[in-house]
Amino acid sequence: MKTTAVIAIHGGAGTILRTAMSTEAETQYHAALSGILHAGERVLADGGSALDAVTEAVRLLEDCPLFNAGHGAVFTAAGTHELDASVMDGATLEAGAVCCVTRVKNPVLAARRVLEHSEHVMFTAAGAEAFAAAQGLEFVDPSYFHTDARYRQWLKARGTEGTMLDHDAATFAATRLPGEHDPIDPSKKFGTVGAVALDMHGHVAAATSTGGITNKQAGRVGDAPLIGAGCYANDATCAVSTTGTGEMFMRMLAAYDVSAQMEYRGATLEAAAHDVVMTRLPRIDGRGGLIAVDAKGNVTLPFNTEGMYRGFARVGETPVTAIYR
Ligand code: ASP
Repeated sequence: MKTTAVIAIHGGAGTILRTAMSTEAETQYHAALSGILHAGERVLADGGSALDAVTEAVRLLEDCPLFNAGHGAVFTAAGTHELDASVMDGATLEAGAVCCVTRVKNPVLAARRVLEHSEHVMFTAAGAEAFAAAQGLEFVDPSYFHTDARYRQWLKARGTEGTMLDHDAATFAATRLPGEHDPIDPSKKFGTVGAVALDMHGHVAAATSTGGITNKQAGRVGDAPLIGAGCYANDATCAVSTTGTGEMFMRMLAAYDVSAQMEYRGATLEAAAHDVVMTRLPRIDGRGGLIAVDAKGNVTLPFNTEGMYRGFARVGETPVTAIYR
């Protein structure tokens, strides 16, 4: 039986204030999201796998400087970039991930190669780069990840205490230095990208990629590359990609919890995702959201912040994109 294929993507969740976003910036985000949804939808329309669709969508999100992943990744406290990505195939429960890579152009492609060509699930730092090099993936000079917007954001974050959640203009506004009046443009501050899809063969897949949190300590790894926390897929339940305060998503095993609630207590996709984002994560001050699809083609995109760059596209239909609540 053929299912109606669908893809959903996100470009990060957080304090995205309508008042702080120019119409021009808003248009750019909508255009980027719908262009990428179109590309993912084409893969599915051609009979491609959910795994191929999410990999392609996340690759394009990584190449787009608007989002905190790949090219547009945020800076670490050391002024460098450390990128994390993961991918999971709901048909086989195979998964691949890399973290702390600094020169791999598209971390999601490295994660995909791990899934396909390694007996392991996750590689880190130098080992991940050696694996990616052996796989013939494209490498870039670390300066490729330098964008002026992220650099300015980092300079401001360095004046504040600790890390700045990539999500939160309010965080910066609340901690900015005396005399420093302009809070960081919220349109530039959000982190992590992801995609989930259901293909016409009834299989689901998920992929997540991030630069992490602005001014994070070198070596810090968040939820994005962790299977079960930032990414999960199982044909029997759903596919999930998360964005938010990574440490809380790790402690809650947020992505897997959506799947587990469906499997163990028979929750619907929507009820399970809502419970994780609106009830469980807030208990430990977890802020952010997730995108999820199930094998019936249901889609849900809940978030507990002001906004989340997001959208979905069913094959043959016009993509729907949104930013605010
Ligand atoms: N979850 C990501 C991390 O903690 C950040 C984000 O989604 O903005 O690395």
